[in-house]
Amino acid sequence: MPRSGRGSSGTIHTMSERVIPLVDQRHPSLPLPPLSAGHDLSALPLDGLRRPLTDLRISVTDRCNFRCSYCMPKEVFDKDYAYLPHSHLLSFEEITRIARQFVAHGVQKIRLTGGEPLLRKNIEVLIAQLAALRTPEGQALDITLTTNGSLLARKAQALKEAGLQRITVSLDGLDDVIFRQMNDVDFPVQDVLGGIEAAQAAGLSHIKVNMVVKRGTNDHEILPMARHFQGSGVTLRFIEYMDVGATNGWRMDEVLPSAQVISRIQAAMPLVPLAAAAAGETAQRWGYADARGQYDPQLGEVGVISSVSQAFCRDCNRARLSTEGQLYLCLFAVQGHDLRSLLREGASDADIASAIGLIWQQREDRYSELRGLNQLPATEPGKKRVEMSYIGG
Ligand code: SAM
Ligand code: SF4
Ligand code: SF4
Repeated sequence: MPRSGRGSSGTIHTMSERVIPLVDQRHPSLPLPPLSAGHDLSALPLDGLRRPLTDLRISVTDRCNFRCSYCMPKEVFDKDYAYLPHSHLLSFEEITRIARQFVAHGVQKIRLTGGEPLLRKNIEVLIAQLAALRTPEGQALDITLTTNGSLLARKAQALKEAGLQRITVSLDGLDDVIFRQMNDVDFPVQDVLGGIEAAQAAGLSHIKVNMVVKRGTNDHEILPMARHFQGSGVTLRFIEYMDVGATNGWRMDEVLPSAQVISRIQAAMPLVPLAAAAAGETAQRWGYADARGQYDPQLGEVGVISSVSQAFCRDCNRARLSTEGQLYLCLFAVQGHDLRSLLREGASDADIASAIGLIWQQREDRYSELRGLNQLPATEPGKKRVEMSYIGG
């Protein structure tokens, strides 16, 4: 029996009768603000909800060698899928030039992502360029990268030498059968674990492992994962399965709320709540407790990212730069602002900085909060949320 079939109305019906719309997520850009007014860089911009701009996520490729069903389902991202041509991608020099203007506006942390960022050729060259940037106060940036880990064993040393300090590896379970099913390309779990070890050996610090929890698919892997990483120096974080993009066929009944993740771990391994390490942190932290019920730093911690059950939009200080240079203000956005055309039409650094500042000042996004309040506006016909593999996670 075929695994999926294309419907007549631009949809795909999978075996479980999940209906996945066939869409091109790339819509015309939003207009850029008029630049003639200029923008005062002496005051860092706050958005419409008074949130500063401190984090930038940069997607360096829309391609990936995995086909996680919650992100790039095979039925949509098949051999006919139109990925961006190379000329559409921002070059490393373009990325660094735009990043410099974000840093002037208060960005202190940059996360490289994708698609699979380690597929981008010579990614370490970009890391070295970004590592050379300084904040207006002369501080180096906090540079990190999220990867599926498949190429990490090969790349870890070069990434570290280029100036990468931290890394996050996505891993949805330890059971090889489940893991191969979830990446949907039959990739073995042992190779990702080898990548994590290589990252530790290369001296990358604060290594995090992200596990997307899908109820009924890999929630039985929560405890084995917690046991495996306890005391390893690696921080495991559980992410609620999100309704990003328009292709993963998301259903609320497949979301396991973080509170349940914590209570399942608590039942076997005592945890105590920890304070947030930084403002705007997405994860709630829990420390493993010793026999006296006190946090034991040797045992380490876990985190939960509760984007569905407990929105954290009020502290959201993140901007996203897509692979082709579109600035997105929210993970659930439909349209972005085309910074690449500004760049390629000869805009000055001051113009780019001005555009970024003005766009940020107009930002009002709070999708998850509105979802929680049941107040999401209806999506305009023909407009779909951008895919995570394009915008970056
Ligand atoms: N390919 C890299 C990876 O998997 O780490 C980087 C890009 S991926 C889009 C970034 C993160 O988004 C990963 O940790 C992934 O697990 C997470 N992610 C993707 N789709 C998701 C979804 N529907 N819900 C929650 N997290 C998701
Ligand atoms: Fe690829 Fe990462 Fe998306 Fe999985 S989550 S398909 S590894 S981009
Ligand atoms: Fe930020 Fe949008 Fe996520 Fe809210 S929904 S936390 S605004 S990215």
